[in-house]
Parts: sequence; structure tokens; C-alpha cells
Amino acid sequence: MLLKKELGVIENSYYEASVVRPPPFAPLADRISADVCVVGGGFAGVSAALELALRGYSVVLLEAQRIGWGASGRNGGQAIVGFGAEGEHAIESQFSAEDARRTWDITVEGLQFLRERIDRYAIHCDYTPGYLNLAVTASKSRVLDAWAQHVMRVYDYPLQWIGPAEIGHWIASDRFHSGVFDTHSGHLHPLKYCLGLGAAARVAGVQIYENSAVYFVQRGDHPVVKTAQGEVVCRFLVLAGNVYMGEYGDDIAPELTARIMPVGTYMIATDPMGKERADALMRQRPAVSDNNFVLDYFRLSADHRLLFGAGDSYSATTPRNLVERIRKRMLGVFPQLADLSVPYAWGGFVDITMNRAPNFGRLDPNIYYLQGFSGHGVALTGMAGKLVAETIAGQAERFDLFSRIKHHAFPGGASMRTPALVLGMLYYRLRDLL
Ligand SMILES: Cc1cc2nc3c(=O)[nH]c(=O)nc-3n(C[C@H](O)[C@H](O)[C@H](O)COP(=O)(O)OP(=O)(O)OC[C@H]3O[C@@H](n4cnc5c(N)ncnc54)[C@H](O)[C@@H]3O)c2cc1C
Repeated sequence: MLLKKELGVIENSYYEASVVRPPPFAPLADRISADVCVVGGGFAGVSAALELALRGYSVVLLEAQRIGWGASGRNGGQAIVGFGAEGEHAIESQFSAEDARRTWDITVEGLQFLRERIDRYAIHCDYTPGYLNLAVTASKSRVLDAWAQHVMRVYDYPLQWIGPAEIGHWIASDRFHSGVFDTHSGHLHPLKYCLGLGAAARVAGVQIYENSAVYFVQRGDHPVVKTAQGEVVCRFLVLAGNVYMGEYGDDIAPELTARIMPVGTYMIATDPMGKERADALMRQRPAVSDNNFVLDYFRLSADHRLLFGAGDSYSATTPRNLVERIRKRMLGVFPQLADLSVPYAWGGFVDITMNRAPNFGRLDPNIYYLQGFSGHGVALTGMAGKLVAETIAGQAERFDLFSRIKHHAFPGGASMRTPALVLGMLYYRLRDLL
């Protein structure tokens, strides 16, 4: 259980500290049956379970830890359109312009869907609209501009260009050259959102079992999904265990493991700085990231902290001096925050694919999987759950569009994929610095 052990090293999450979790759901301790069994209680699994229950299916959801324990309860909370420039490029190079446009439009729908669900289920998760994508140098600015022009022209998606003369009105930092503002994307408290979806799923009739790790799946017409103390016999199975799935049993879906890489990314939260000071940093209070390959991402929380994240580790091992390293990067952006202490630091793993496009598909006609969100899962996971529910209900068109995206395993398979990535990331980091 390498990933779980490593994550435990810095388990001091602002998100966990700022929610009151409901009492745990009991572990599965019986042999039960359901139309659908969903493995994984993150955004993707909970969304699939909820959407299926709303369509009248009996659904069991099995979560190895607690709802929102994985990436969904740890992330930057940035709900952003698209797949990231690399993922978009991969899709555009494989698909016709029309099909690429359909995938893009599904991500736009994902933003709308997220806001609708927050309203419908009255989820108090501090949703704030606006996303600022920033370039740190003139050459990165040209890359950002080219991307923005492309997105506006090809996808008719509105973006606002912010040149060097105006950038200071948007962010009180000397670090950035220029940027792009997106009013439709935004940010939220991801753990509150995930727990809210979990509660909605429960109300819709989903049977949720926590502390119920699946260690084996017997495939067939009626898959049997086994945990330590129980099993679920189902007609359909949805696997949404992200990078952790292989941690509990090698045989659950070995085909999937080599296609995604766990990349460690870490966040810190400062002490509250008060509304006035927070507004002075970024008046619109958007989600922010730069367009470096190894990027910084940050946003202000509802209680006026800066939450700052950095993609910093290319292995499953937690880097040393982590808090100090991320704090230094934060001070590189906002040196005026040097007086604030950093009471929280935590991390998680992003599930990236080789080409950074998402990886959805079927292992068998009745076994579906959702993975490879490549750092763009906050909004897209909701649609992933909806698409799998549509498919099981007989409308496979949109899910099949995604399942046509071709993916390659990381070189060397599951055992060698981290060293290969270390080399790749070091190369890109050097390129960012140069
Ligand atoms: C620090 C960090 C920052 C990020 N920032 C952003 C961001 O700002 N914007 C963005 O769009 N994306 C971001 N991401 C990515 C985003 O969080 C993910 O894409 C998304 O949460 C994936 O959701 P998921 O449901 O697939 O996986 P998870 O949330 O990881 O859920 C998987 C669940 O499955 C359970 N599980 C696994 N195996 C088993 C098993 N065998 N049996 C039972 N249960 C099992 C796990 O315990 C886990 O709870 C970030 C990720 C991290 C870690």
C-alpha cells in the first residue's frame, strides 16, 4: 500500500479541518446484490452512483476509506473548462474537428452541471466563479495567447485577454506577464462538494459502504465484487478507484494501472488574512494557475486564506522539506505574505495519462471504468458519472466518444512508469526555467 502510506506523511488537510464529516457508513458485511456496483467514493464514483440511482437503478457504492478521501477531497478546487492544452491537442489530433468540438462541449456542460448540482442539492461549498490562467514570461505569454486564440476560434468559447499593462489590476504580484480570464470556470471547497454529492446519492437511494476495500472482482455476466467481509453481485460494475485501485488487490483491473501515473502534488493553506487583505491580492478572487509545465495553482478560500499548490513530486514518495518548498514558491508569487504562518499542508496524487486526455471505457460489456482525469477532474468527473449512467441506461453515444480516445501504457508498465516520468518532468522543468 505504497500510495496510502506516503500520503499519510503529510495528512494535515485544511479541507478535512474545515468540514464536519457525518458518522461513517458501516462496512459491507454481507452478500448483497444490486443492479450496479460502483467502486470508489470520489467525485467520479459518487457522480456515477447518484446519476444511476436517479435513473431508477439499485446501486451499491464501495469506498475503501471514506467518501472524498482520495483526490476529490484534496484538490485545488479549480473547476476548469477543457482538458488542458496537451489533452486538447491529443484529442484534436485523433478526432475530426466535429468530434473534438463535442468533447469540448461536454466539458462546458460539466461546468454548468456542477453549478446546477450545487443549487439542486443545496451544497454549501463556497463556489466562486472565475479562472485566471497566467503566463510568467513573454514566451509563455505567446503560448497562452496562441491557446486562447485557438479556443475562442475553434470552440467559440469566450475568454478575456489581459495584457502586461492590465495584469496588475488582476493580481498583486510582479511575477506574471499576462493572462487570460474565463468567467465560466471557477472554484470550490472540493471536500464539501464531494460530501454534498455523497449525501445526495444517499437520499437518492444509493447504498454506501465505507471502509470497504474491494480486493477482487470475478468477471462474468454477473460480476462478483469482493471485500474483506462481504461481496456484491451485480449486473454492471463501474470502476472509479483512481490511482489507488491497485493498492488493494492486484487483480481488480491490471489493464488499467499502466495507463495512468500517480503524480504527487501538494498544497498549503495560510492562516486567515482578513477580507480586505485577501481582496487586495486578487479583487475578483478567481482560481489561478500559471501555464508552466510544472505549474503553481492557487486561490483564496471563503475564510480568506491563500491555498497554494504546486506540482512538485514525480514519484510516489513525499519530498523532503515539503512545506518550506511550497511556501517558498508561494512567496515567489506573493512576497507580501511572508508574515503569515502555514498551519496546513497536504497532498495527493493526480492520475495522468500519457497524452493527458481522459481515459474512459469498458473492460467487459458490463464493466466500465473512469480514470485519467489528468488534473482536470473537478468538473469533468461529474460528466463522467453522467455519461456512464446514460450508457447503462441505453444511450452510449457520448461515453463512446470518449472511449474512442486512444491511450498508451507508460513505458515499462506499472513498475517503470515513475522513473520514466521523473526524467520527463525534469526535462520540462528545465524548459520552464530557461
Ligand atoms: C492536490 C491535488 C490538486 C488537484 N487540483 C485539481 C484542480 O484544481 N482542478 C481539477 O480539475 N483537478 C484537480 N486535481 C485532480 C482531481 O482531484 C481528480 O481528477 C479527481 O478528484 C478524480 O476523482 P476520482 O473520483 O476519479 O478519484 P478519487 O477522488 O481519488 O476517488 C477514488 C476513490 O476510490 C477509492 N478506491 C480506490 N480503490 C478502491 C478499492 N479497491 N475499493 C474501494 N475503494 C477504492 C479511493 O479510496 C478513493 O476515495 C487535483 C488532484 C490533487 C491530488
